[in-house]
Amino acid sequence: MQQTRNNALRGLPSVDKLLQSEETQKWLKEYPRRVVLKAIREVLEERRSELLSGSAENEISRNISDAIEKKLLESGSFSLKPVINATGIVIHTNLGRAPLSDKTLKHLTTIASGYSNLEYDLKAGSRGKRHVHLRALLKELTGAEDAMVVNNNAAAVFLALTALTSLNKEVIVSRGELIEIGGSFRIPDIMAAGGAILKEVGTTNKTHLYDYENAVTDNTGLILKVHRSNFQLTGFTEEVETADLVKLVSKTSKILMYDLGSGCLIDLKPWGIHSEPVVSEVVKTGVDIVTFSGDKLLGGPQCGVIAGKQKHIELLRKHPLARALRVDKFTISAMESVLMEYANGDDITKNIPILEMLLCDPDKIKERALKIEQGLKSLPNFTVTVREDDSEAGGGSLPCVKFKTYTVLLKHSEISAEQLQKLSRITKTPLIGRIKDDTLILDARTIFDSQLQEIIEIFRQIDK
Ligand SMILES: *Cc1c(COP(=O)(O)O)cnc(C)c1O
Repeated sequence: MQQTRNNALRGLPSVDKLLQSEETQKWLKEYPRRVVLKAIREVLEERRSELLSGSAENEISRNISDAIEKKLLESGSFSLKPVINATGIVIHTNLGRAPLSDKTLKHLTTIASGYSNLEYDLKAGSRGKRHVHLRALLKELTGAEDAMVVNNNAAAVFLALTALTSLNKEVIVSRGELIEIGGSFRIPDIMAAGGAILKEVGTTNKTHLYDYENAVTDNTGLILKVHRSNFQLTGFTEEVETADLVKLVSKTSKILMYDLGSGCLIDLKPWGIHSEPVVSEVVKTGVDIVTFSGDKLLGGPQCGVIAGKQKHIELLRKHPLARALRVDKFTISAMESVLMEYANGDDITKNIPILEMLLCDPDKIKERALKIEQGLKSLPNFTVTVREDDSEAGGGSLPCVKFKTYTVLLKHSEISAEQLQKLSRITKTPLIGRIKDDTLILDARTIFDSQLQEIIEIFRQIDK
């Protein structure tokens, strides 16, 4: 026994020998030497301890190079890496929300790779302010007197509530709008963190104007309206029109703030989407402050926009929190490029990837699905079918709106759907699909044409 184990240990190749192998030469082209060496050492060490702990001798014959390759894939690549979104969910918060266009990326790269006038006034030749870069475009697109950008919409809500309500003042919110956005962003918590006192009015399903009227006192700081961006309230319901709240705050000299969530800059009604308020229309009603995300339906980089009356925005800009929540030059450059697309207005649904995917012609999605089917047809162990289905907007946007799509349904004769899903997640570019009825489902809406070949290759490799 001892003898065979020693033989087996001796049978392990040395690090040097592995380093000289052909495969290592291939790996060294892709990964730094440090990473390859570490993977080799770790795999050898694992094999050694397996043998010493009495694992079967044939362990040794298990393919060492496969194990090294797997380790390289796991540890030799970046932690944050591209994935193929085959969920059909266009604004997928876990998968990074809005992809940016080549044009936007080009501008971002230009700014990121050199110096810029981030905080330099070129006319005066002296120190400038980073806030100026997005201000004019945001004013133009929202119709607001003034606007600024912070790290995300959660930060926008936090800053506005903190800066506009003095300590221990009340913020009135309808019970139907006390929402959780996910990732533990809850309106009541945000308020508490900013030192405001939450005053709930109305009921879950109905809130009337008189509920707000009765709640307004000297101690009221602000009335907050929150767009129910990730769920729908249907049935016996009532909410107060924004215009009525505007009247109420102007009569009582309070502030009305509206957290819009998604920040939709164009009217989506022509595409059958009626539930999403357009930012400029809300601003037009006379709301003091609106806040929204930059990377939801707007389709830009992660950020939060605050737009509204100048006197309020000025106050926010000066608040110490604004410095802590400020955006960097990458965000500003990408956001300016995206906003410019909106301002130019040409083919907006083609130039903003999020809108392009969301409003994509189903026939085009079908074509994509059929291409995947075609590419996998020849694999004997796979059963592949294309089927019509629905996709969602996601990211807490457009709840209950269904978008016609096409999916590829994959079944393997020997591998379970769950295993198939797992294997397609540990590839060089992980593929994220969903499972239903022991079938792996890929929604072609969110797959880029440039990824089709890679997807086909992933399943070819699995089938080998
Ligand atoms: C998504 C959302 C937020 C949070 O926005 P982030 O940009 O993710 O911080 C806040 N309020 C509403 C209504 C939302 O839909």
